[in-house]
Amino acid sequence: STTIERHLYDVVVIGAGGAGLRAAIEARLAGKRTAIISKSLFGKAHTVMAEGGAAAALGNVNSRDNWMVHFRDTMRGGKFLNNFRMAELHAKEAPERIWELETYGALFDRTKDGKISQRNFGGHEYPRLAHVGDRTGLELIRTLQQKIVSLQQEDFAATGSYDSRIRVFQETTITELLLDGDRVAGAFGYYRESGEFVLFEAPAVVLATGGVGRSYKVTSNSWEYTGDGHALALRAGATLINMEFLQFHPTGMVWPPSVKGILVTESVRGDGGVLRNSEQKRFMFDYVPDVFRKQYAETEEEADRWYTDPDNNRRPPELLPRDEVARAINSEVKAGRGSPAGGVFLDVSTRMPAEQIIRRLPSMHHQFKELADVDITKEPMEVGPTCHYVMGGVEVEPDTGAALGRVQGLFAAGEVSGGMHGSNRLGGNSLSDLLVFGKRAGEHAAAYVETLPSRPKVAKVDVAAAAEVALAPLVRPGGENPYTLQQDLQAVMGDLVGIIRRAGELTDALKRLQELRVRVANVGADGGRRYNPGWHLALDLRNMLVVSECTAKAALEREESRGGHTREDFPKMSPEWRRINLVCSLEETGEVHLERKPVPRMRAELITLFERTELAKYLTDEELSDVEAQ
Ligand code: FAD
Repeated sequence: STTIERHLYDVVVIGAGGAGLRAAIEARLAGKRTAIISKSLFGKAHTVMAEGGAAAALGNVNSRDNWMVHFRDTMRGGKFLNNFRMAELHAKEAPERIWELETYGALFDRTKDGKISQRNFGGHEYPRLAHVGDRTGLELIRTLQQKIVSLQQEDFAATGSYDSRIRVFQETTITELLLDGDRVAGAFGYYRESGEFVLFEAPAVVLATGGVGRSYKVTSNSWEYTGDGHALALRAGATLINMEFLQFHPTGMVWPPSVKGILVTESVRGDGGVLRNSEQKRFMFDYVPDVFRKQYAETEEEADRWYTDPDNNRRPPELLPRDEVARAINSEVKAGRGSPAGGVFLDVSTRMPAEQIIRRLPSMHHQFKELADVDITKEPMEVGPTCHYVMGGVEVEPDTGAALGRVQGLFAAGEVSGGMHGSNRLGGNSLSDLLVFGKRAGEHAAAYVETLPSRPKVAKVDVAAAAEVALAPLVRPGGENPYTLQQDLQAVMGDLVGIIRRAGELTDALKRLQELRVRVANVGADGGRRYNPGWHLALDLRNMLVVSECTAKAALEREESRGGHTREDFPKMSPEWRRINLVCSLEETGEVHLERKPVPRMRAELITLFERTELAKYLTDEELSDVEAQ
């Protein structure tokens, strides 16, 4: 049937990971009727899988830590391409958001004197990640859910209905945003189980849909991550920035083939794990780039002393930012010094007593035992790079999370938004990002609704059009198989737009994506509307495709290597390119359009947090003399 269930809300949050839940809580606290929509089961989002922890300069383990040091580390990690205002807000507000989580019922691991404990992670100068063993994301989601339930209890007491002010729609996929002129008017989607359509009318939408990893075959991401939010934003007239920057996490499982890509948390290295090649050499010492040389140990002895005496020694190069470590592993394997399954060795077994490994890394111990029959207390793991996180995303106003571009009433937070992490994200900076900017997006979405003189209206023709697009694959006999199309797309992205990129291959990738576009327009799905994963994938494909086009186009345009974007033909970082954001939009014709836009200039009091010698590594001479004139 084509009857369409309708719901009216003030704020619709698409995504039930950390960013979405935090946004929804804030919108509800501001008195707005709020819906949370989740493609998978409630509680099953990437946030739940986060292991290492949430970065916040609480200064509990090293009192020298503060927001300024965190800000500096974040800008360095992103190679100075970060939106400085977002990095500033993030560093300043993360501690408050962590504290607040404990008021919602979270309980982080403790130091001996009872403070929230913090662990080391790549690129962070001091121990900074608040954590719960290696299951931090689970605690985060659990407590945000608990907070939502407690708000629902309050609403029940006040109105007699749990769902009156905040309601969760799980296993519901949004396929289209609906507009009234330039203003958001609602969101259209389907219940995965029944295949029935559902329309949410709302003047404000918060995108919190996470990442895009499913466009790659080797990825730590699960099936939902097809860039839906990115694509919804584009189609609604918003813009994406810096989609060329993808984080390939250095340590994914490489064996057995069925689990290739599954994440091995960075905590393994943070807690003392070391990387070795087939010659048993700790090769990371050979890969410390100039910009980081001063902060990293030169000998194994110094690196080992750092774990117990960080004030008088420099950190091990295994803890360089992820882009550096991923490239190093890639080079070792290419040079023929890889492990049997085509990765390198990551070893904790010779570094810590078994009992300590099991206590500090319980999930990793379990994961390797179950999936690879490897006991990490006795033998090394085999690991290699895996597509993990997208730094690029919806271009937003830093303070409010409002999407830029033609559309009003659209907000974005968490991984789907861009700017905060520049060209590379530091581990642990995502969970804190979700909390800081999730709250802000929820707050400002609610405030935006308040300013509207009247509710934008959903047009019947738009609903009919959205339904037609969604039904099309089911009524296309002999259409292309969605699984084949996904594999072909993954092959293009993995082979031609992977860790190391070249102009010729990127041009080839764009040509193949054009061909795929024609095929995706002809995708078909057998079967009916009741729980039909082939149909669901058919609908996801157009999102994956347009987002991949942005990535490939921007990767070809940016002629330098920086963070999560490495060009073999332009191996250096270029100060000129540091001044440029690449902004993607969608033309009426459906073509992806790319534009250069200047990176906002850092405020004077933030610039002075860095030494001139460090700035000289990133800025143009002109920018440097401007800094000196200030
Ligand atoms: P997610 O948590 O990814 O949630 C996205 C939500 O959107 C889901 O509910 C999904 O169902 C929904 N959704 C998507 N599309 C649609 C649609 N079309 N309609 C409706 N709903 C939709 N970061 C850290 O800081 N520290 C860590 O230790 C860490 N470890 C990680 C480990 C793993 C294995 C992975 C994969 C990531 C890890 N990260 C870590 C990264 C971090 O977990 C993610 O970047 C972060 O959780 C993203 O949160 P989010 O709220 O933006 O989105």
